Amino acid sequence: MCGNCLLQETAFICPMECPKGARNGPCGGSTPEHCYVDETRQCVWYRIYQRSEAMGREDKLLEVLPPLDWSKTGGETWGDVVHQVRSLGLGSTAKGLLSGDAARRAQTWDAIFRPVRQPDWWQGDDQYHRPAYEAPISGLEAALRSGEFVVTSEVAPPMSTATGKLRENIRLIKPYVRAINFTDNPPPPRACPAWRAA
Ligand code: SF4
Repeated sequence: MCGNCLLQETAFICPMECPKGARNGPCGGSTPEHCYVDETRQCVWYRIYQRSEAMGREDKLLEVLPPLDWSKTGGETWGDVVHQVRSLGLGSTAKGLLSGDAARRAQTWDAIFRPVRQPDWWQGDDQYHRPAYEAPISGLEAALRSGEFVVTSEVAPPMSTATGKLRENIRLIKPYVRAINFTDNPPPPRACPAWRAA
């Protein structure tokens, strides 16, 4: 149990089913067919998007959700939920949840779950916040702002601390791109040799 229940935001599907514990949408390896890490199952974030759409709750997915509050992990959240329902009042909570007014129902859900899942220090929301600066902070941003057609590339980092090949690849590609990104950790080849998997 993560102890930081976000079910109300994720169409009541637990995002902790994700092997990476992704709490704000799918990882880069996700496909409609299956999870990037465990190909025997569907990506949980695809299921969340599909059900959110079916339930008319896509707007919930705009919110930037808080990371795990590790002080709560391992515990369950239902005690907090019951406490919150009591503090709101059983009668008014039941009326809100059973109301024919969708906005009131949503408001009641939020009143129950937001204080439970939202750490006091978390400032995330579903609004766009303009950056505090005006001038572009990189050549890439300047090019994007000017509407220029931009080409970027990914360069896989080495599987070791030797950076010679990496620097060579960057040197080759640099004249043709505006930006280069590096993955955190390149996946091993599909046919993983035993010495590499060890
Ligand atoms: S593909 Fe989906 S379920 Fe699998 S690790 Fe990525 S985000 Fe998580």
